Amino acid sequence: MEEQEKQPEQTDVLASTQKIIKKALDKLGYPDEMYELMKEPIRMLTVRIPVRMDDGSTRIFTGFRAQHNDAVGPTKGGVRFHPNVTEKEVKALSIWMSLKAGIVDLPYGGGKGGIICDPREMSFRELERVSRGYVRAISQIVGPTKDIPAPDIFTNSQIMAWMLDEYSRIREFDSPGFITGKPLVLGGSHGRESATAKGVTICIREAAKKKGIEIDGARVVIQGFGNAGSFLAKFMYDAGAIVIGISDAYGALHDPEGLDIDYLLDRRDSFGTVTKLFKKTISNEELLELDCDILVPAAIENQITEKNAHEIKASIVVEAANGPTTMEATRILTERDVLLVPDVLASAGGVTVSYFEWVQNNQGYYWTVEEVEGKLEAVMVDSFDNIYKLSRTRKVDMRLAAYMIGVRKMAEASRFRGWV
Ligand code: GLU
Repeated sequence: MEEQEKQPEQTDVLASTQKIIKKALDKLGYPDEMYELMKEPIRMLTVRIPVRMDDGSTRIFTGFRAQHNDAVGPTKGGVRFHPNVTEKEVKALSIWMSLKAGIVDLPYGGGKGGIICDPREMSFRELERVSRGYVRAISQIVGPTKDIPAPDIFTNSQIMAWMLDEYSRIREFDSPGFITGKPLVLGGSHGRESATAKGVTICIREAAKKKGIEIDGARVVIQGFGNAGSFLAKFMYDAGAIVIGISDAYGALHDPEGLDIDYLLDRRDSFGTVTKLFKKTISNEELLELDCDILVPAAIENQITEKNAHEIKASIVVEAANGPTTMEATRILTERDVLLVPDVLASAGGVTVSYFEWVQNNQGYYWTVEEVEGKLEAVMVDSFDNIYKLSRTRKVDMRLAAYMIGVRKMAEASRFRGWV
């Protein structure tokens, strides 16, 4: 906690999100009470999870589940496993999920979970035990009509499967709609694994049209080689773009002629690590400043800040990660006429297909990959257009426009319910 309180405001993701929410609600003409309701999650659970480790010792892990606002419907959002997870971060992430749901018009509010742990240093069985322990600890506040978890950083379909199994055992009935991002055989949806990257790809294409840039031949830099970054590199590469830089948590690779993405995908491990195999690497900081047309931060928070925003060469920045750009950096990039597609729009493809998965689970009838991708395409194009237009007509940056659209439905629903 002390650590969190010392955090400078610039990189305090919760404080900056609250500021933008306030601005968005002011622009839309809502009273202060609405901001008071929305500045924090309505529910925040902290749990301690005892886990028997493979060596016989017991470790107690701390986990969180935040539910931001359930006026529109059940809350929804991923669970991340990461050593840097904090309560504040999970709160901010739950608010961002509410905004994403508002932007792509899903019948959900936002939720988010996290466990402070490092899965890179844990065995398969230890991961299973922590996943099951987490579900036991939060089982009372989650469920297919309450709060629906999903994957996030360092969690995947196997972890969703364990969590589903634990939940079904506790409830004593099969409940595939409890969680999304499941393996196909357990009620997962076609297209879910690549959905975030598909959504980002659509945003890149739409942004490129606005800037008069051809994707074929465009130079792209992607920070992060996890779920979003790796699929995105492949989609860009296949579309004829030249991916000149990629990175993971340990460093970055750069080749002005274009990297061999198929080879890198083949060599990456399940945590998205690949740079350790190479002698000649550059730093993540250097990667962000490379000369390119399109930059995609697809890793973690606070990567583009007031320190490096002036050095960004790309004319389009599309945020596949949650919270990669600070408020001050957003201002600098917008002033420099860089087209910034904010996280709450760009990364909303994941939760959109999660919603499709939940709908398929509820109806017990499953769609083809073409159906899923066709619906995702329509949703993303519409959402991009709405935000782009609003940012032009109201003369606000893309992030504020996205927040204005993102909070609107939730604010209306809270009002109809008589909360504010
Ligand atoms: N964790 C992803 C996100 O941040 C997906 C959430 C979901 O599918 O519910 O958007």
